[in-house]
Amino acid sequence: MRKRIIAGNWKMHKTLVEGLELVEALKAGYIPDDYYEAVVHPPFTLLHEISKALEGSDIKLGAQNLFYEDEGAYTGEISPLMLKDAGVDYVIIGHSERRKYFHEDNDIVLKKVRAALRHGLKPIICVGETLEQREAGKAKDVVADQLSILRGISIGDMEEIAIAYEPVWAIGTGRTATPELAEEMHKFIRETVAGIFNRDVANNLPILYGGSVKPNNVFDLTSEEDIDGALVGGASLKVDSFLSIIKNAARNII
Ligand code: PEP
Repeated sequence: MRKRIIAGNWKMHKTLVEGLELVEALKAGYIPDDYYEAVVHPPFTLLHEISKALEGSDIKLGAQNLFYEDEGAYTGEISPLMLKDAGVDYVIIGHSERRKYFHEDNDIVLKKVRAALRHGLKPIICVGETLEQREAGKAKDVVADQLSILRGISIGDMEEIAIAYEPVWAIGTGRTATPELAEEMHKFIRETVAGIFNRDVANNLPILYGGSVKPNNVFDLTSEEDIDGALVGGASLKVDSFLSIIKNAARNII
């Protein structure tokens, strides 16, 4: 059975007090299970403290980004070593907000993925098309191009990687992809990965869906064969909705 993940991307939200409050409430209400790994991705400034707060719990810690050098004169950047030092397991790479506002292209995404792998961090690599690209019939071309960075990664490292399909038009808009539309792209992603590596690698790869995931739509999405969990933004900021998403995600054994 491949790994299944529900990850909460807090984006640029929460002070330390607010973040600790959320994590304490999550810990109190979270019931670990064998199907889904639960991960929270707070802002950098909260990582050390939240790591301490999560000690002894089954909830994992992730970061939202990293820089690809270990250290040096890179004002304002955070290295993979620093994330390891803070107790981080997962790191989101190539989120569409990073691609849009910080001009991250495939070269940068690949460097970041390699840097994460070098230090034992698990990358969650985001891919997804804009509305304009979908309407132009280019959604699969765009996603295939974003996935082409995997050619720069060794087959052994694929065990550490998850992909998140996040159609840009569904992020933070309340407009979720239908389960059928999402499944079509997830299947395409798995086929593309099988073409780059092989069928086993593709079958073991967790592919998460992201884009306005809520407690009331997560079951239908995760019931699809190739949707192995969710990357959740807005609905991960409140304890009740994030716990409900974890609870409502389908428990299909594949
Ligand atoms: C995200 O942050 O990756 C995301 C999918 O956000 P939202 O759930 O708010 O659409």
